[in-house]
Amino acid sequence: MVKVKTLEEIEIMRESALVVSRTLGMIANEIKPGANPLKLDKMAEEYIREQGAEPGFLGMYDFPNTLNWSPNAQVVHGIPNNEPLKEGDIISVDCGALKNGYYGDHAYTFEVGEVAPETKNLLKVTKESLYIGIREFKLGNRVGDVAYAIQNHTEKHDYGVVRELVGHGLGKELHEDPQMPNYGKRGRGKKFVNGMVVAIEPMINMGTRRIKQLKDGWTILTADGQPSAHFEHNVALIDGKPELLSTFQYIYDALGIKSDEEAEFRRHKLV
Ligand code: MG
Ligand code: MG
Repeated sequence: MVKVKTLEEIEIMRESALVVSRTLGMIANEIKPGANPLKLDKMAEEYIREQGAEPGFLGMYDFPNTLNWSPNAQVVHGIPNNEPLKEGDIISVDCGALKNGYYGDHAYTFEVGEVAPETKNLLKVTKESLYIGIREFKLGNRVGDVAYAIQNHTEKHDYGVVRELVGHGLGKELHEDPQMPNYGKRGRGKKFVNGMVVAIEPMINMGTRRIKQLKDGWTILTADGQPSAHFEHNVALIDGKPELLSTFQYIYDALGIKSDEEAEFRRHKLV
């Protein structure tokens, strides 16, 4: 059952999302060849706690860390270790935070140093598909409209859309209804209503959409060993339109990236 939020609840959730946004911005400063994942994980945990929040993933279903740390062919749910980042890697970092009883949950795939052009394109197209999907999260549309938009954009580039893992509603629980798949048919599925808050999160593979899981019971990776990208935002439906609760602006500030891609989805100043 979808738990619709009041405007007051959405304001609380905006802060939970921004705790994650700021944490990913802090991480962005540290992403470079030689960076130690476990050290960054600890920094993220401390920074989340400094903001009056708790790590959302640590201990959830017994996950051992604060960050999901998924390099290269890993899709999601990778576990931070002592393996340093290398020039040319990509690293998908997914982070959750619980503040005032509500979750924030979002993700970004970073480039480490100079990345191969075809990998850069995978990241670009996956991020484009996130915003194309968010644009469809509006009154009168359904889950399938967001799903179709993401699938259509990424499959045009012959990329593989992961089926087994999906976005989700967000609130007092990390995973609420409805499921938000990244593949589907227009006009199908749950109808969107004002007050819905969802995590939209395309997980897109350069090659096959097929995935496998490591014996650690967590790490999901591509079946063909090619890279995978993951971008995630938290979005509320207000007055019939999608409004971003999370932001990549802290990441862009850290990396010196200029972007206006979020402007149409934002009616509040960042704090
Ligand atoms: Mg996430
Ligand atoms: Mg999520």
